[in-house]
Amino acid sequence: MDWIKLADRLYPQVDGTPDDMERKYPPRNLPEGAKVTRFAPSPTGFIHMGALFPSFVCMRLARDSGGVFFLRIEDTDEKRAVEGAVAQIVEGLNDYGVRFDECAVNDGGYGPYSQRARVGIYHIYAKELVRRGLAYPCFCSEDALASMRAEQEAEKANFGYHGRWAKCRDLSLESIEERLQNGEMFVLRLRVPTSPAACGRHPLPDEGGRMVVLDDPAKGRIEMPPNEIDHVLLKSDGVPTYHFAHAVDDHLMRVTHVVRGDEWLATYPLHHMLFDLLGFPRPKYIHIAPLMKQDGGGKRKLSKRKDPECALSWYAEQGYPVDTVREYIMTLLNSNFEDWRRANPASDSNTFPFSPKKMNAAGALFDLQKLDDVSKNVISRMTAEEVYRQLTAWAERFDPGFHTLLSRDPAYTEALLSIGRGGAKPRKDIARWGEAKAYLSFFFDELFTPAAPPDPAFCKAYAGIYDPEAPQDEWFAAIKALGGQYGYCPDVKQYKADPSGWKGSVADASASLRLALTGRESSPDMFQVMQMLGQERAIKRLMM
Ligand code: GLU
Repeated sequence: MDWIKLADRLYPQVDGTPDDMERKYPPRNLPEGAKVTRFAPSPTGFIHMGALFPSFVCMRLARDSGGVFFLRIEDTDEKRAVEGAVAQIVEGLNDYGVRFDECAVNDGGYGPYSQRARVGIYHIYAKELVRRGLAYPCFCSEDALASMRAEQEAEKANFGYHGRWAKCRDLSLESIEERLQNGEMFVLRLRVPTSPAACGRHPLPDEGGRMVVLDDPAKGRIEMPPNEIDHVLLKSDGVPTYHFAHAVDDHLMRVTHVVRGDEWLATYPLHHMLFDLLGFPRPKYIHIAPLMKQDGGGKRKLSKRKDPECALSWYAEQGYPVDTVREYIMTLLNSNFEDWRRANPASDSNTFPFSPKKMNAAGALFDLQKLDDVSKNVISRMTAEEVYRQLTAWAERFDPGFHTLLSRDPAYTEALLSIGRGGAKPRKDIARWGEAKAYLSFFFDELFTPAAPPDPAFCKAYAGIYDPEAPQDEWFAAIKALGGQYGYCPDVKQYKADPSGWKGSVADASASLRLALTGRESSPDMFQVMQMLGQERAIKRLMM
């Protein structure tokens, strides 16, 4: 076979060479050890948890090492492309602090940053592989491939285009010419070398029957048999498959660490082979297991279809702060993050020493209860001004009526929000802004739902003596004293030791007041609640 002739026949328009590409995209000028990573979504526009999670890994690896993190749009599958998706991806991730050093709108010199715009580059390498007898056109129809698969199934043979099933592997130049003349469509397939000599200066990865070995920090060492399939490199429209684009792009864009879903592990031997055949040094790989969810007795993958929490829009609607989501992702990424957080309560999570080795190889478990716990902590650490800012912004979008109340008197709302805030043990009442209305309701007459206190007479009597000027200790002493007159033991311990002769303790007296004032059995510090309500409103509620 005259491979050079075939290469010129298939790609007459290609005049660039791999050497030209090496010159155009030289190794990046970065400090020793700097990592280059990329986030490579298809342009469906829908950024979900399963994508945000690995983007954090990429970003942290690059940032922690003084490297580069870029966005590459994998738009080789036209059916999946969505209008405006790139902006949605960039903005959607930006909301969560994921920022790219390079992307389609911010060229770093290693672009284009979307694969359809790189087709000319892939063709240079396609032509080169054909020239070297490492790729060939395949004219098999969908039907032919389907019957091949059926036969392989019947014979229990390995699936795929290989061995005697690879009908187009050894077509003559004349036969190829004839089909081209007939206008037959073809895909370009890899021609898996059968002997080390066949691939020139690039040795076969499995030379001597060796296995393909992958050392993945997240998965450990994995050994797999080498690839034997003549996989498709270019589809019939000349657009590459993921595999070919991965090798060409990640080499020319000088990616050092490929972070991707572990669904790509099975085809790793093919990628290993492609890098070797193309003469590219191989990058390091970090394969990430999908997020898992407890379902009944078992675990399953977090699903875009079944689990609303998979969509990032859900966090916005529920009112989980962005910091909660970021913080929660860190707990999913590295199990030691929570210990670190306890030791460094005020530190930025970006200073946590992230390690891909500490990732859960089997898939981190997504747990909404845990998310709430994380969020309560995050919100409890915020200042009242910050809570006010985020809560009103949330309410403006998702609960306009509540927004009107919150912003009617900003100083009042901020003061409410500062109850129990600051100090060593801040209150952890709400996990998301969507819970704030129920939590704050009694501070607004429009939202207050009265409840009958067990001892209205005591409440009324207390209304008569309430002194809003009294400091907290005097205020409490007054409740105790009045409680005593109404049969409530002023000392809880004493009451517990011998309840006979008492109606209850001062705790029960306070519970009556709380119910009258807030309409519920638990509330933030009552002294502060009463201060916030103000004398008039407090007395009115106690008298009801
Ligand atoms: N577009 C591929 C995907 O979304 C990218 C995989 C990779 O990061 O290499 O699965």
